[in-house]
Amino acid sequence: MAIDGSTEMIGILGDPVSHSLSPLMQNAAFDAMGLNIAYVPLRVDADDLQAAVIGLRAMNFLGANVTIPHKIKVAAYMDDLDESALVTQAVNTIVNKEGSLKGYNTDGDGFIKALAEIKTIDFSSTRVLLLGAGGAARSVSVALAKEGASLITIVNRSPERALELISILEQFFPSLDTRMITPDDVDNGVVEEHKLIVNATPLGMKANLKAHQLPVDKLSKSHVVCDLVYVKSGMTSFEAQARKKGAATMGGLGMLIHQGAAAIHLWTGKKPPLEIMRQAIESQRSNIAKEP
Ligand code: NAP
Repeated sequence: MAIDGSTEMIGILGDPVSHSLSPLMQNAAFDAMGLNIAYVPLRVDADDLQAAVIGLRAMNFLGANVTIPHKIKVAAYMDDLDESALVTQAVNTIVNKEGSLKGYNTDGDGFIKALAEIKTIDFSSTRVLLLGAGGAARSVSVALAKEGASLITIVNRSPERALELISILEQFFPSLDTRMITPDDVDNGVVEEHKLIVNATPLGMKANLKAHQLPVDKLSKSHVVCDLVYVKSGMTSFEAQARKKGAATMGGLGMLIHQGAAAIHLWTGKKPPLEIMRQAIESQRSNIAKEP
């Protein structure tokens, strides 16, 4: 893809952002679509987030994706919020329409579409154990509630954030049963009674962020384990441990592809090339596998 005077810009705001596969995947998609758009990583400190958003508008960016840890804070800087972001109060996609910034959230739909690729689940009879209460956890829990989930147990380090999420869920989904426990309360019994387990924390993302210390002994064939974390080299250790126990597993890549495709549709109105996006990521993986 050649950048020239009429190239339009889209960024991804995050910190860290160097791990992100979105630039590779989204640029491959724009290339295949024949669009003169460049997608760039933008590392933004939390204190500079508002300035960065103002910059997107000033520099006529077509829009942006937003990743860890800015998804919740960035909602306050939007001119308008789509229903997907209004319920979650978390934004992962910004669309700039003639200087007006509208926030969307495509993570929840991306999660459900990716999950459907590995397993058909009757959400009304499946108890969900959700690790984390940040932006991704909000999107996933709202999407699961929309799909008819009857019980979601939230495991979070800080109780305040878990309570905030529970109050959102209670407001919009009064028939959903929500519970909150601390990571120390997660024992074999808890694992056994929840059949869908979702890691929506960054644990497992880097060597200094070790995988969730879930007691995995009670994981079995009847579990479905989703790790939203994706690592360039393949499976996270949480996913690998769950797979060893016979559980059906999903890593973060499927969700990454589907949430990214939905964002491309919002920016361009065009159908994204899902297979090209998947191949772009797979090629990166095989390059890493070849490294000494
Ligand atoms: P976020 O808003 O910053 O929330 C992070 C959550 O993880 C919070 O609940 C936080 O707990 C918890 N957490 C952070 N560090 C922790 C630690 N050391 N020990 C225990 N808990 C910890 O982040 P996010 O945007 O939700 O993203 C979470 C993860 O999901 C990231 O790895 C991100 O890359 C991934 N993700 C993947 C996709 C995809 O497409 N695959 C999409 C979205 C997100 P406290 O409240 O206690 O701080």
